[in-house]
Amino acid sequence: MRAVVYRGVDDLRVETVPVPRIGPGDLLVRVAACGVCPTDIKKIQHGTVPPPRIFGHETAGTVVKVGARVTDWRVSDRVALHHHVPCLRCHACRHRAFAQCPQYKRTGITAGFEPAGGGYAEYVRVMSFCLPGVVRIPKRNTFEEGAMLEPVNTVLKAVRRLALLRGDTALVIGQGPIGLMCARLLALRGVRVLATDRMPERLAVARRLGVWRAMLAEDPQLPKWVMRATRGAGLDAVMVTVPADEAVASAQTLVRGGGQVLLFAHTRRGEISGLDLARVCVDEKDLIGSYSSDITLQREVARLVFSRRLDVRPLITHSFALEETSAAVALAARPTATSLKVMVCPRQAMV
Ligand SMILES: [Zn+2]
Ligand SMILES: [Zn+2]
Repeated sequence: MRAVVYRGVDDLRVETVPVPRIGPGDLLVRVAACGVCPTDIKKIQHGTVPPPRIFGHETAGTVVKVGARVTDWRVSDRVALHHHVPCLRCHACRHRAFAQCPQYKRTGITAGFEPAGGGYAEYVRVMSFCLPGVVRIPKRNTFEEGAMLEPVNTVLKAVRRLALLRGDTALVIGQGPIGLMCARLLALRGVRVLATDRMPERLAVARRLGVWRAMLAEDPQLPKWVMRATRGAGLDAVMVTVPADEAVASAQTLVRGGGQVLLFAHTRRGEISGLDLARVCVDEKDLIGSYSSDITLQREVARLVFSRRLDVRPLITHSFALEETSAAVALAARPTATSLKVMVCPRQAMV
């Protein structure tokens, strides 16, 4: 089969590799769509994991083979996949810290080499421990919608970490695909959403998705605008979806005492940031993070996406053939005014 193999920093090559073999508890899925995710881009551009690997973990496709012991799935089922599944039994899982579970940290979907998602290939093997994360895609929904379940899950998990009440006001910094989905999910919960971004085109999309007000990130009127919008009270929460430390500092100023600042994109280790910690201690402004997905939210995520209450279709702006994965990654890494979520579609499956 054809696959895009990571061979080193910024080096993705289209190669012919064996179709993965499956065990008695596994599935083989023909990939129809796979989203390009910032965490993969980081690995590709910074070489944070050793090659060779086949990336791509926001995957949807068609089951083409089932292991002898698999009872829940059949050939030709259209499915969305989940490459990290927690054990639900360990110490971390009992505390619902699923992303810290040892099983969760294992990647259970592969197209060959060290398992890394494998979605940038024609076929993937879904290992038995990842079967609880497989979701059926309804007839009326597309594979691309299915491929959005994983990122939507990470967003819903983050939104649920916030102690917001109906009618509260929250700011979402950054209106990329993740920020837009944060904004939409907050709006669905009855929260008044303020949105900022550097690109006016993205603010326009945010407005269409139901944010209350939107403003350019560098506008010097931002603090005044927030204070006016909250009648001087400050924000109940801020979601920071860009990896910018200035955004965190400004979020800590704009949030009210006892409010929350949530970091979604600060995934780079080793960088030390100067923050006024009295804001956390004295003002009780919680600084929290959220990373990766929560399998227990999977049903709710599927309902939101497939019912189109969270309609992800306007967020998917580009799809590339497997051979053009490098171009897809380059576009996702340096988005244009009109690009949002970028997909790789190895083969538009007919089923
Ligand atoms: Zn992802
Ligand atoms: Zn566990």
